[in-house]
This record gives sequence, C-alpha cells and structure tokens, in this order.
Amino acid sequence: MKDERTQVGILGAGPAGLMLSHLLHRAGISSVVLESRNRDYVEHRVRAGVLEQGTVDLLEQTGVGERMRREGLLHHGIELRFDGVGHRIDFPSLTGGRSIMVYGQQEVVKDLIAARLADGGTVVFDATDAAVHGIDSSEPSITYMHGGERHTVRCDFIAGCDGFHGVSRQAMPSGVLEVFERVYPFAWLGILAKAPPTHDELIYAYHDHGFALYSMRSPEITRLYLQIAPDEDVALWPDERVWQELHTRLETDDGWKLIEGPVLEKIVAGMRSFVAEPMQSGRLFLAGDAAHIVPPTGAKGMNLAMADVRTLSRALADFYASGREDKLAAYSRTCLTRIWRAEHFSWWMTSMLHRFPNDDGFGPRLQRSQLAYVTSSQAAAASLAENYVGLPFADA
Ligand SMILES: Cc1cc2nc3c(=O)[nH]c(=O)nc-3n(C[C@H](O)[C@H](O)[C@H](O)COP(=O)(O)OP(=O)(O)OC[C@H]3O[C@@H](n4cnc5c(N)ncnc54)[C@H](O)[C@@H]3O)c2cc1C
Repeated sequence: MKDERTQVGILGAGPAGLMLSHLLHRAGISSVVLESRNRDYVEHRVRAGVLEQGTVDLLEQTGVGERMRREGLLHHGIELRFDGVGHRIDFPSLTGGRSIMVYGQQEVVKDLIAARLADGGTVVFDATDAAVHGIDSSEPSITYMHGGERHTVRCDFIAGCDGFHGVSRQAMPSGVLEVFERVYPFAWLGILAKAPPTHDELIYAYHDHGFALYSMRSPEITRLYLQIAPDEDVALWPDERVWQELHTRLETDDGWKLIEGPVLEKIVAGMRSFVAEPMQSGRLFLAGDAAHIVPPTGAKGMNLAMADVRTLSRALADFYASGREDKLAAYSRTCLTRIWRAEHFSWWMTSMLHRFPNDDGFGPRLQRSQLAYVTSSQAAAASLAENYVGLPFADA
C-alpha cells in the first residue's frame, strides 16, 4: 500500500483533467492525475477537433498553444449546404472578429501531457480500479491499483474529470444529482480518410438521406460523418457505400466534388444530450464529460470541458490564496449557465440538420425554413456564429 499527498487529486487525463492540472500548476497548486488507460492510447484517441476562440486563447495564454498555432487550421467560417447549394456563415464579420481553430483533441492532449511532464507534474497512466472516498471530509482520498499494488492519494479536493463512463459521477451521494437527458434517434458514422481536403472549411449538409459533415484534421486527412440509424451494424457500411453516400449528401449543383482516399478509421458515435446537476458535492467537483454530454453537431464537448476547469482552477486558486470558499460554492452554478447555452445550441443544430425517423413532412419543412432563415438573415446567422465560435467564459 503506497500513500501520497497532494492538494488536488484528479481522475482522468482527458482534456479536462490535464488542463486542470496545468492551470493549477501555474497557480502554484499541486495535483496528481490518475488515468486508467495508457499514455499511447490517450494520445491517439481521435475525437473532437474544433477549438472555440476562448479555448485557443486559453491554450496560448497558458503556454501550451505553440504547436497548435503552427499546425492548427484557422477557420473563419462554416458552410451550410442544403438543396444542392452551399451558404457560407462568415464568423469574423458576424462576431466582431472571432474565429475557430481545427486542431485534433489528441494533439491538445499530447501538448498538455508534454507540458505537465516537463513541469515535473505527476500523471499516472494505467491507474485502474480508482475509487473516491471521504468527499464530505476535509481530506478526501482516491485509491487505485498500479503495477499490481494498491495506492492512495490523499488530497484537499477531488476533481472528477473521468468522462461520461467514469466513476466520479457515481461517487456522488445518492439523491444529490438530478439528471436531464435526451437520446437522439440516430447516430454518426465517422471516417478518417487519407485524402486532402477539397474545401477550406467545415460543411454541414442537410439532405433527404440524412445529415453529413465534412471536416478535416490536417492538410492530408479528412474527417467525414454520416447520419445513420442508432442500432445500425457498421458491417453494413463498407467503404464503397460510405463514399457513395457522402457524395450524394455533400455534392452541390455547381459541381463541387469530394476527394476520396483510404479509410484509416471507422467509428459509430451515439448522439445524446446529458446534464447532471449539481457538479459538486462536498470536496468532489465534476468537470467535462463526467457532468455533461452534447451531441457533436455544435462542436462544443471539448470546449465545455476546458471552460469548466478554467472556472474550477480559479475557484481553487482563490481558496488557497484567501481561504474563501464562495467561488468553489458557486462553481456548479457558474458552469451550468454556460453549459445549458451550449446544450441548447447543440440540440438546435442537431434538430435543424438531421432527418428524424417517421416524420410526416412537417419537420423537414420547418428545417428547410430554418436553414433558409439562418442563411439569409444576418441576425439569425450572427446568432449561429456567436454560439459556434463560443460565448465568453462565464466568469471572464
Ligand atoms: C467519438 C467522439 C467524437 C467526438 N467528437 C467531438 C467533436 O467533433 N467536437 C466536440 O467538441 N466534441 C466531440 N466529442 C466530445 C469530446 O471529445 C469530449 O467532450 C471531451 O473528450 C471531453 O473531455 P473530458 O476530459 O471531459 O473527458 P474525456 O476526454 O472522456 O477524458 C476522460 C478521461 O478519463 C479516463 N477515465 C475514465 N474512467 C476513469 C477511471 N475510472 N479512472 C481513471 N481515469 C478514467 C478516460 O480514459 C479519459 O482519458 C466527441 C466524443 C466522442 C466520444
């Protein structure tokens, strides 16, 4: 049995846990990050890729944005496509100069791990069987197994950054959490293809066959998604069928063509909106996917995780500097205001762009009307744009 003492014990080395540890270090607060997977796995887990302006600024201002600035793809807009025509939403002109950055989540994770290790931080990979104890005391702890031995981290606070399937949300005392959830009647089939982008910006396509998303990860790699049924067997989607459907849903009347390439990865992702409130009980604080999930249509998941831990790190810094607990007490409320805005935006984008099963035609007519409005009214386009590039941090 090995014992260790730190100020903040962090479960999970995803964007939330790593960024929290990085921000705490900059505030002179010690932490230990415990991750159930190995380093190679977390550094190569392809997920989100769109960074809001605020996330970009946060990475740069805290010294972990150098590679992103060099290798990321700065985007000044997106395209909405329907009925064979593309309509561009220009971000800077609609939002007072704000934009987004396309830079893979796994690259953010690599940069944060490198920074933590260079700064002498502790990230324990392959830390299994983690359990949270004593969250109502002033010295909670986390136990876990590593290298065949049982370890204990004693701390002042625990941050549950262990994602949707982690253990920290389950460690909240019964009766504390209220859960709000919507599961959508479709899923996304995503492919990563070795094919150069044919278009400079993300394309969100609404089509009678269903939604399609065109995005990219680098000048050589495209990331493409198709709406499929939630229970569909991926074996029914050989590469040839995927490409054929992407061509059908994405191509325009003016002859725009998709470039094909070898498929490097194929995944199916379910679509869910989920919020667990409050995000704190005693000395346990939840952040990121551990507390909330959005459907990926609004590109908000990783950005919300970053916003949560920014707020949490500031509240903890205030506590250690002054002994005051008011910001910690306000953490959940502060985050949830912004989270519900992103929940609404993600639900709205999802509802506007996907075909719902068994619709009698009423829904598609509303969707076409909404798409026509968003692409012709400056006020409606500005609303989409300011949500997409990200609203200011709640405690900015
Ligand atoms: C397939 C997919 C595609 C996505 N696409 C997008 C997108 O396009 N745009 C977007 O904005 N968002 C997207 N998301 C969401 C985004 O990736 C998440 O919101 C983001 O990863 C949240 O970061 P996090 O740190 O809170 O959680 P995670 O990234 O899930 O990190 C949690 C970490 O905790 C670890 N862990 C879990 N349980 C334990 C335990 N018991 N003990 C220790 N460690 C544990 C996990 O291994 C993981 O490393 C996508 C998600 C998925 C799954």
